[in-house]
Amino acid sequence: MTDTSADLVILGGGSGGYAAAFRAAELGLSVILIEKDKLGGTCLHRGCIPTKALLHAAEVADETRGAESVGVKAVFEGIDMAGVNKYKDGIVARLYKGLQGLAKAHKVTLVEGTGTFAGGTTVEVDVTRYTGKNVILATGSYSRSLPGLELGGRIIASEQALSLDYVPEKVVVLGGGVIGVEFASVWASFGTDVTIVEALPRLVPNEDEFASKQLERAFRKRKIAFKTGVRFTGAKQNDTGVSVSLESGETLEADLLLVAVGRGPNSAGHGYEEAGVRIDRGFVLTNDRLQTNLPNVYAVGDIVPGLQLAHRGFQQGIFVAEEIAGLAPRVIDEKGIPRVTYSHPEVASVGLTESQAKEKYGSDVTTFTYDLGGNGKSQILKTSGGVKLVKAPDGPVVGVHMVGDRVGELIGEAQLIYSWEAFPEDVAPLIHAHPTQTEALGEAFLALAGKPLHVHS
Ligand SMILES: Cc1cc2nc3c(=O)[nH]c(=O)nc-3n(C[C@H](O)[C@H](O)[C@H](O)COP(=O)(O)OP(=O)(O)OC[C@H]3O[C@@H](n4cnc5c(N)ncnc54)[C@H](O)[C@@H]3O)c2cc1C
Repeated sequence: MTDTSADLVILGGGSGGYAAAFRAAELGLSVILIEKDKLGGTCLHRGCIPTKALLHAAEVADETRGAESVGVKAVFEGIDMAGVNKYKDGIVARLYKGLQGLAKAHKVTLVEGTGTFAGGTTVEVDVTRYTGKNVILATGSYSRSLPGLELGGRIIASEQALSLDYVPEKVVVLGGGVIGVEFASVWASFGTDVTIVEALPRLVPNEDEFASKQLERAFRKRKIAFKTGVRFTGAKQNDTGVSVSLESGETLEADLLLVAVGRGPNSAGHGYEEAGVRIDRGFVLTNDRLQTNLPNVYAVGDIVPGLQLAHRGFQQGIFVAEEIAGLAPRVIDEKGIPRVTYSHPEVASVGLTESQAKEKYGSDVTTFTYDLGGNGKSQILKTSGGVKLVKAPDGPVVGVHMVGDRVGELIGEAQLIYSWEAFPEDVAPLIHAHPTQTEALGEAFLALAGKPLHVHS
């Protein structure tokens, strides 16, 4: 064994790991970042970026089909998956190159290989021991399945769905959460007959009920079938297809079954448990300063219980780097992390749902919903949906929920409002450019402040 040391050793170069590495390097720490696959992790190579490229191609397909409705002559001839994949892979490749350049510029030492946490503050890769003054565990997550449902062949997870070289005719999507809904949206735009099966009573079940209802209405219009409150009981596949059976006794036939039932923490087989890291159902437990139970050992990203989102990983990585450097950063408010589902239409939210707010503040919580029907830009874009505000009794706005094409872009303002604990009267005087979709937020705040403008009572 040879020994190498640094101020900080990080295991896993995904969103959480590389953000910690870059910020620590900016703060003058020496950093070793260990990655067994590609810098950028799930988000860049198998998650956020490639799915959003597919969703953009899907949007172009829908716009082409609907071109005539705005007086533009265009003929939709079909989807060329080779072309779609070239576009998608090109974006990933460019961003990957950029990220490698950033690692170099930050003088982060990249170690290619599979690391094992050896206890203390040491990670081993083959015959080298990397010891830091501090260690960050950032090994991310993997696509989960259900008991008795083995992935393979026509039963696929998001990784395989991202690299299909054809458009399937019929797909069953198991799971109506973010990933399931996004793939259902892409395939429907590409011409696939899609059915979503969700065990909970509604699509995007972690969102406010308003958002689920709006999304379900839009999906019905798009002829995306969904069965909610139904459990999956089994799947059988052969050369020609897969049959999916449900608790209701129904059987669905398809070319593919996409299993999108959540992501499990990638914490096994890396020496964590053996070294005494406290783990619960696979997740590495930390305090709110992201310290594990072991001294000088931190964890960030999808292996830490909570929202599994890239920007949460980034923020946690930055937080730990600053903590280690002695900057005493402010604890991250999980509820202030924006959530966006990039389907057509999009769903975006921050803060508490109405029912969470009622649990916290009692029944005097107020809400206001502004329909995008009154928003000029949304009408120009031919999108429908709405903005719902949730306000604490005599208090600030504690939740913002939005549905409609492009509303993901409004989440920045919503996040500021939530994080600054703004009252409707604080936001109502702020001017929103006309015609933009941000006006929908502005109108909702005007109404909640008691001075509605473009609102039908
Ligand atoms: C289909 C899909 C779409 C998504 N879309 C979005 C989105 O639009 N927006 C969003 O915010 N989030 C999205 N996510 C979630 C996002 O990708 C994750 O939250 C994020 O990647 C988590 O970052 P992480 O650093 O915790 O883990 P990861 O990105 O998974 O990185 C972990 C890294 O650790 C490496 N590693 C693991 N074990 C070892 C070892 N023993 N030695 C060395 N290296 C190791 C892995 O190779 C990997 O590169 C999506 C996820 C999926 C699957």
